Amino acid sequence: MSEAKIDQYKIKQEPYYEPVGNEVELYEAAYDARMPVMLKGPTGCGKSRFVEYMAYKLKRPLITVACNEDMTASDLVGRYLLDKEGTVWQDGPLTTAARIGAICYLDEVVEARQDTTVVIHPLTDHRRTLPLDKKGEVIEAHPDFQLVISYNPGYQSLMKDLKQSTKQRFGAMDFDYPDADTEASIVAHETGVDKDVAEKLVQIAHRARNLKGHGLDEGISTRLLVYAGQLITKGVEPMAACSMTLVRPLTDDPDMRDTLDAAVNTYF
Ligand code: ADP
Repeated sequence: MSEAKIDQYKIKQEPYYEPVGNEVELYEAAYDARMPVMLKGPTGCGKSRFVEYMAYKLKRPLITVACNEDMTASDLVGRYLLDKEGTVWQDGPLTTAARIGAICYLDEVVEARQDTTVVIHPLTDHRRTLPLDKKGEVIEAHPDFQLVISYNPGYQSLMKDLKQSTKQRFGAMDFDYPDADTEASIVAHETGVDKDVAEKLVQIAHRARNLKGHGLDEGISTRLLVYAGQLITKGVEPMAACSMTLVRPLTDDPDMRDTLDAAVNTYF
């Protein structure tokens, strides 16, 4: 692939990332060893932003794939397409990443079907190969290639967990919502709201996070706090902004909505 094509996967501007522990150093060491990495944690807590930041810092192209239950192995690896001349092979994102030495980030990989997870196995052990079965070719991963997956341990059912044989191919890092001070800085930085408003939003989130498992499947994510801040900066009245971004997306249960609205009310 030409340099220009590889370039499109490079991250041009340094992403804003606020470290919460020693995750940057740990990841650098893991990348140095080309160890596959699993990022575990609830949705919207900074996993994708972290990978973008690390790809930028390590000057590697990044190819991100949002996984879903309809995804097949061919969506990752590639397939033959029909065009005027006949059939042409088109690499999937995983194949492209392995060829160009990118970091390949499979977001929410448990969503994908089992056959999909199996194709990553030979890439994640000493072989570092990817068989393109339909094409009858085996490619060797570029020395700079690394596989990263994300995984939300919260809403896994037994049916939808990664197999041990998959899990044990990765080094894992736990992610969680940042501590209150860091999270408020993030919200203020990302949206331009003042520190006082950012702190209030974080406190509302803390209230909601305590309700996880007591009527809520997930707490309010950092991502949603950023949404709330964005609306407030646009001039939306805070109560309405919070209702739209912190309450409505989370639950349809009228009682739970009342509880969350009341929590918002105590701050705004
Ligand atoms: P995930 O991949 O875990 O679902 P994201 O990485 O998309 O979540 O994070 C959602 C948003 O939260 C980001 O767009 C960013 O605004 C903010 N965010 C969360 N954690 C951090 C952090 N440590 N530094 C900077 N921004 C963060």
